[in-house]
Amino acid sequence: MFVPQIDEWQPASKQTTDFLSGQHKLVIGGTEQASASGQTIETFDPALGKVLAAVPHAGQSDVDAAVAAAQSALAVWQKIAPSERARLMMRFADLIERDAPWIAEVESLDSGKPKAHIAAVDIPLGLGAIRYNAGWCTKIAGETIPVTSPDMLVYTKREPIGVVAAIVPWNFPLCQACFKIAPALAAGCTVILKPAEQTPLSALILGKLALEAGIPPGVLNVLTGEGATTGQALVVHPGVAKISFTGSEEVGKHIARTAANTLKHVSLELGGKNPNIIFSDCDDVDAAAATAAGAIFFYTGQVCSAGSRLMVDAKVFDRVVDRVVSEAQQLKMGHGLKAETTLGPLISEDQLKRVDGFVEESRGSGIEIVSGGKRAVGDLASGSFYEPTVLTGAEDTDRVVKDEIFGPVLTVQRFETIDDLMPRANATNFGLAAGIWTRDIAKAHAAAAAMQAGTVWINTYNQFDAAVGWGGFKQSGYGKDNGREGLDKYLQTKTVWVNHAR
Ligand code: NAD
Repeated sequence: MFVPQIDEWQPASKQTTDFLSGQHKLVIGGTEQASASGQTIETFDPALGKVLAAVPHAGQSDVDAAVAAAQSALAVWQKIAPSERARLMMRFADLIERDAPWIAEVESLDSGKPKAHIAAVDIPLGLGAIRYNAGWCTKIAGETIPVTSPDMLVYTKREPIGVVAAIVPWNFPLCQACFKIAPALAAGCTVILKPAEQTPLSALILGKLALEAGIPPGVLNVLTGEGATTGQALVVHPGVAKISFTGSEEVGKHIARTAANTLKHVSLELGGKNPNIIFSDCDDVDAAAATAAGAIFFYTGQVCSAGSRLMVDAKVFDRVVDRVVSEAQQLKMGHGLKAETTLGPLISEDQLKRVDGFVEESRGSGIEIVSGGKRAVGDLASGSFYEPTVLTGAEDTDRVVKDEIFGPVLTVQRFETIDDLMPRANATNFGLAAGIWTRDIAKAHAAAAAMQAGTVWINTYNQFDAAVGWGGFKQSGYGKDNGREGLDKYLQTKTVWVNHAR
């Protein structure tokens, strides 16, 4: 087993090295156990291209055991008073916060993300989701409905949907897990968490901390494994009532089709190809351009909401391109545990090849590679590092403009008028998010109204809050995470008719 030589970076804590050198186990029904088959899968440090840990590969019998545990825990969890469930969830959040410094190190090693970003963004968002949803435990209520017959009392109850399989991607492992676990637990559901095979470690920590918090065995189970086996077994399992999925469009569509056989509830948070639009009349063109650079290069562009299509008023086009390129060139690529790192590697060599494929396709096609455009060399050559890349001159029909690249590649395109702009901005199958930069409030609202996207940011970008729903339009999926809508999807409504004349 690879134990990272962390001395050359910021020192990793003893908890991190102890955790990495220990045996990793599934969490099923409150016990930690190897997979029944004994099979494991390896997870890599993408900055070094070396194996970081081996985790169990959950097979069919592990999935069956986890579903059985989650089913029997439903009654236990629902018998606990709502205020006590809220207290347990708050305790769960407190324990994550207690361990945040070393969890951030583990997550950084597993995902390549800068530790500082995990500490500043991922963990607070995850904690926010748990604490926000803990508040809902005591506020889930039905209603009484006045009906025509005077003899009838009609009321509704909001009941948990049942066992939830939460299937999450590798780009925000802990935070995405919390976005799904928290509302499901608040609703009274039990959960089987299936992290991505590239980043399984923080999910295992969450499973242990939930038990330490006093959340009853079986309420949160964690199965590590591959999508096509472990994930697929959850999707077809008749004992799972709902799949809450975040990931790629391709897998999302496959899950929706497969889950139809058992009519499971499905919610899908999928990809994006998000337009970020700078009008020449925005308050500060340079600040907008600097934010636009952050909108694409944060977490190396591996973000569903990445502002990957920058559309700029022709009047300020050159100025914006210059500023974005200057921001890109100031990023410091390196290992996520190094304090000065602002740009980590891509998650894997496969992802690097995919990203590079898009850029290579652009060469010689009239598209100008203004900055970047190749993998990093020298000390970084053994990791999956790719230079932050800025492309100009791409047409709306080019793949770099239409497809989600999921890497540090920005296209910058110009527009002349708002009438010309909006159909182009919406000319994508995705509809996740968009940014608009202008001081003209009428124009801002008109553009926001015309935008086919689940979230529109005006004079800002990448704002998130546990209280605010997050999810896409069109082929970016359906069903929100966070906010009240994020809770509702784990509840089903029962209607009760009472004849009080008898
Ligand atoms: P992915 O679809 O390959 O994998 C996501 C998860 O699905 C993983 O846990 C994987 O093991 C599992 N999986 C794969 N095949 C499966 C199957 N047949 N049955 C069940 N589960 C299966 O996605 P990824 O590469 O991990 O993540 C990147 C994608 O996620 C991007 O498209 C990105 O835009 C999207 N994403 C969306 C959001 C959002 O909120 N909309 C957030 C983050 C990431």
